[in-house]
Amino acid sequence: MRTIHDITDLHNKKVLLRVDFDVPVGSDGKIQETFRIQRQKETIDYLIGQEARVVMVAHISAVDSFRDLVGQLQDILGRSIVFVEKIEDIAAHANDLGMVALLDNIRRFGGETANDIEFARALAEGFDFYVNNDFAVCHRNHASISAITQFLPAYAGLLVVEEVRQLQGVLEAPALGKVIVMGGAKAEIKVPVIRNFLNKCDAILVGGVVANDILKVRGVDIGPSLADENSVQLLEGVNVQDTKLLIPTDYVMDGGKILDIGPQTIATYQTYIKNAKLIIWNGPLGVFEDERFSQGTKAVAQAIATSGALSIIGGGDTIAAIHKLGVSEQFGFISTGGGAMLAFLAGEHLPGLDSLQNFHE
Ligand code: ADP
Ligand code: MG
Repeated sequence: MRTIHDITDLHNKKVLLRVDFDVPVGSDGKIQETFRIQRQKETIDYLIGQEARVVMVAHISAVDSFRDLVGQLQDILGRSIVFVEKIEDIAAHANDLGMVALLDNIRRFGGETANDIEFARALAEGFDFYVNNDFAVCHRNHASISAITQFLPAYAGLLVVEEVRQLQGVLEAPALGKVIVMGGAKAEIKVPVIRNFLNKCDAILVGGVVANDILKVRGVDIGPSLADENSVQLLEGVNVQDTKLLIPTDYVMDGGKILDIGPQTIATYQTYIKNAKLIIWNGPLGVFEDERFSQGTKAVAQAIATSGALSIIGGGDTIAAIHKLGVSEQFGFISTGGGAMLAFLAGEHLPGLDSLQNFHE
């Protein structure tokens, strides 16, 4: 994978920069979580510092358009942004040195999510280089991530480089001392990580909906608790009786539903976390949005933050939880990737990373 440091001369070069501005936005129009945007700053600053002319491309799911967010983006990045609404001839907006242009939500234009070749060709027109700095979408085969690399020399931005380095380190670290904490919902993207690590770690501490699925498969009656219909298929190939796979032994319940891990489980998980050398955490252990069911997530977050282990955490709700619960941010590395981080840790190939390796010269 070639990085922006490998581009020898950026002066006056037009760079199409794929960034990650996919942030939650409140009903008041305010960006609620600026972490992902802040993580883009280093690469933008580097490119501008090298006197490149930059047009940023990004998607956002919370709102339709970036139009009303430009002011906030400028404040967070500390830079003037020229907002571009039409895709035609976007390279022409990469004109003023020191300024950055931003194309409106790339998913508003047909062709992005279909990885359309003609769309990618039009996007690339007039640029000298393509830089991918959106790790969180690298597991998607989208035009501004994948097809675009057929038309421009492609390089990884500094965030993508850092994400890959950290997560590769997790895959390669010795099993001894490695502890995975896995919670949240979306079991179908979490189970592959459990499958990949069960024989390559000390323990996997499970909570959330994923734990409910495992309890169900083990034959425990979980009543109306949230679980997947197809728990058995989801967990195929995972030995649910494996002693390294820890599931809750007590719960906080409401209306018959398991909504958080209980005090005994918290104590057990704390012990594993304390003895770990490397901790990977994705997914809240309960319905943390409700104070009554936030204790498990809070206790685990605190235990990870204060442990001597290297910790690597990720997931949109996981990051929201540590901020909401006011847990000190003593984590080794916070990934911007949710699904992308999990896909990487499951040992899958990410289209966005593959295409940075096999791009058109
Ligand atoms: P992340 O974004 O960190 O990857 P997920 O999106 O997978 O995490 O899951 C977060 C959601 O899981 C939260 O909204 C939380 O309320 C929910 N959740 C956690 N535990 C439970 C539970 N026991 N029952 C229902 N929902 C749960
Ligand atoms: Mg989530």
